[in-house]
Amino acid sequence: MRIVRETPLSMTLELAQLTVTMLSDGETAMPLTHLRGLDGEALPPAELEGADLSGGKLRLPVRAFLVQGRAGCLLIDSGAARAWHPTLGRLPAAMNEAGVGPGEVTVIALTHTHVDHLSGLVDEDGGLAFPNARRILVATEELDAFRSEPRMIPVLSRVMPLEQGDGPMRGVTAINAPGHSPGHMAFLVEGRLLIWGDLVHHAAVQFPRPEVTWVFDDAPDQARASRLALMEQAVEAGWLVAGAHLPNPGLGHITRDGNGYAFHPATRSA
Ligand SMILES: [Zn+2]
Repeated sequence: MRIVRETPLSMTLELAQLTVTMLSDGETAMPLTHLRGLDGEALPPAELEGADLSGGKLRLPVRAFLVQGRAGCLLIDSGAARAWHPTLGRLPAAMNEAGVGPGEVTVIALTHTHVDHLSGLVDEDGGLAFPNARRILVATEELDAFRSEPRMIPVLSRVMPLEQGDGPMRGVTAINAPGHSPGHMAFLVEGRLLIWGDLVHHAAVQFPRPEVTWVFDDAPDQARASRLALMEQAVEAGWLVAGAHLPNPGLGHITRDGNGYAFHPATRSA
């Protein structure tokens, strides 16, 4: 892994054949009560020590990722556009900083169909934000949810089902990681970097305590099991990880730490 480019809203890593670029969509903050304990209740204040706060709330960055190689240009997730918080929707600026035009994206895959992941598919005028992306891959379990979203009507003819084991482009494999949503997907790039979507929402709490869930987890027990399994696998295999809500730069590696794990953000020296 080599960091080849860094800008305020992006970071590009070179793997063997492919490059992966983190694209920041901006940052927002969520109520402290969004983190949930094993009983499903909000964590008591004493258990929020070490949380990463902004204005007394849980800091929540939003990111998408781009995988580029000779076979094409894959965008994983598309940010919140203007559909959620006003501080989000910076994906086009991040791509501009990274030197990639929207017309270069050839295929798009979604980790899941929540508002901060699908909204950027359609531009402010209701047109296609990525006109040359002929395929938009959505997990089979979430196709109905995607199709029932009125804002997504312009892209519906390009939507195709995504299944565990599929390769959205050469060198990238979809891995089912359900729980946060029914068809939540992670993507393993070149067998060494796992782009894991929403496996973690608040790193400062959920790495040391991976049993902690998020209020919007569709099936909290399953989300917890997916997180534990993939964190352990990432440590065992020495994978880099990348996540939609991980702290800057959204990429790094994991080690075991006490009863949980620790996240080590990628830096030029690492
Ligand atoms: Zn999300």
